[in-house]
Amino acid sequence: MIRQIIKRIQWRKNPASISPWRSIHSPSIIEFPSTESSAISVEFTFIRFRFVNPSVSVLIFVCNCISFYVASSSEFSEHKLLVQSLEGCKISRNLSTVIGTHARIVKLGYETCSSLTSLLVTAYISLNRLNFARQLLNEVAYWKFELVSSNWIIASFMKVGDVSIAKNVFDKMPKRDVITWNSMIGGFVRNARFDEAFRFFRKMLSSNMEPDKFTFSSVITLCGRVGALDQAKWVHGLLTEKGIELNFILSSALIDMYSKCGRIETAKSIFEKVRHDDVSVWNAMINGLAMHGLARDAIATFSKMEDENTLPDSITFVGILTACSHCGLTQQGHEYFRLMRTKYSIEPQLEHYGSMVDLFGRAGLLEEAYEVIKGMPMSPDVVIWRAFLSACRTHRNPSLGEVAVSKISHLDSGDYVLLSNTYCSVSKWDTAENVRHMMRQKGVNKSRGKSWIEFGGVIHQFKSGDKSHSETESIYKILERLIGRIKEEGFKPATELVLMDISDEEKEGNLNYHSEKLALAYGILKSSPVSEIRVSKNLRTCIDCHSWMKLVSKVLKRVIIVRDRIRFHRIEDGLCTCGDYW
Ligand SMILES: [Zn+2]
Ligand SMILES: [Zn+2]
Repeated sequence: MIRQIIKRIQWRKNPASISPWRSIHSPSIIEFPSTESSAISVEFTFIRFRFVNPSVSVLIFVCNCISFYVASSSEFSEHKLLVQSLEGCKISRNLSTVIGTHARIVKLGYETCSSLTSLLVTAYISLNRLNFARQLLNEVAYWKFELVSSNWIIASFMKVGDVSIAKNVFDKMPKRDVITWNSMIGGFVRNARFDEAFRFFRKMLSSNMEPDKFTFSSVITLCGRVGALDQAKWVHGLLTEKGIELNFILSSALIDMYSKCGRIETAKSIFEKVRHDDVSVWNAMINGLAMHGLARDAIATFSKMEDENTLPDSITFVGILTACSHCGLTQQGHEYFRLMRTKYSIEPQLEHYGSMVDLFGRAGLLEEAYEVIKGMPMSPDVVIWRAFLSACRTHRNPSLGEVAVSKISHLDSGDYVLLSNTYCSVSKWDTAENVRHMMRQKGVNKSRGKSWIEFGGVIHQFKSGDKSHSETESIYKILERLIGRIKEEGFKPATELVLMDISDEEKEGNLNYHSEKLALAYGILKSSPVSEIRVSKNLRTCIDCHSWMKLVSKVLKRVIIVRDRIRFHRIEDGLCTCGDYW
């Protein structure tokens, strides 16, 4: 496409604008303004005329020298003009000038000039024309881009999720610096390519490139996102070993990492030791406490923050409202929502309204939640309607659930399942089946839950009913034995959760092999009898697995920590820190 545009521009341009000097000398392989070909031409002309007439020959030689000088200086100015034009485009953000300059570059034969190509690529990127930049990059045969430009190209493509182009550029670079590695690692984390991020970090260390605070900031975030405690401890140790001073970014990243890895006590002790003069450090602590369902601690931290004269921002309020929502503190939550505007002049954003819908919805105050949605100054997004639908499912209100579904323009599998479950919860089996039928007709598959557990520095992932693990046989043996034992303790499976009107045994069979149960069984198989087991799940943990794990913790006398999509559950001696409210 880009070639077509350039061709069109070339046709429109006056052919006379082509330099006569250029029309004689083939410019196709010129890298920088070359004086060599002109010199050879002068030489030939001189040799040709020398034998005809010496005076004419001298005259022609002088003329040629002048033309050579003019041509070379115009060459330099041409190149300079092209550079200036492209530099200017980055500021003026004028696409037609970039395309025009691109056309001129092709016409003048500067296509292979790496400094101009690099400028063109960066100009297209800054104008958000990544397709053009991508095409140009694919055509680059010899990589002579400057380090700064290459780094910028990597960062730009990582930002839009085009990891493969970033990797190509990285591979082609003859020289890399710490910014190159940081752009790659940070880019992988941003695009949720966690394995590659870890791999690149290790590769960086083995290539003797010293990581800096930006590298650590990405890697610490990475450990938190994966919830990998062993890796987290290793990275923290490395940070200390390298003697990198903690700034507010690293401090908040560490607090966040340990919170997300289930170590709220370590997060708290780091918080106590570091400087508190930036709001992000407070936010990390408040959000960490909220995630662990420690609403009272989150509120206390907020008060301390006020005492130390640090002004809260909108993220602080997301944390505090989430904390209230997870613990059913509807009144306090409502009060903080009011204070946001009246005391701190912070206008509530979409996520604050979402927290309020969640706060009322979880507490079963569905009408209040609906009122919040109706009173929003902006239109509610799909996340808000889903939170509302989820509350309708928990509190068995199919009519409001239908309202939520009617507002979600592109229903995904989770929405169908939630609505179908809402009907199941009030025993409307036929209507539930209709929803399932609609889901099948539209070709939407139910998204499966995934759970994972870290063991020996490796993440072991399980899907519901998964039999792909190399130790499947032992895992199922442990699980079957445990199921029998827990049944003896009087456990009743929550069969209403399994969709459709099928027999109770079938439903029970389905529930027994949920991903979190498989991950837990693997944890029991591999770990020592007293150690705690930490399982992560991509969705909210189901009621059945939650009650089952509470009994497992009592029977085996083990601490089980489940990190689901919403929060942490620390299950010990038959009780969970969430107080069964999540
Ligand atoms: Zn389950
Ligand atoms: Zn719980």
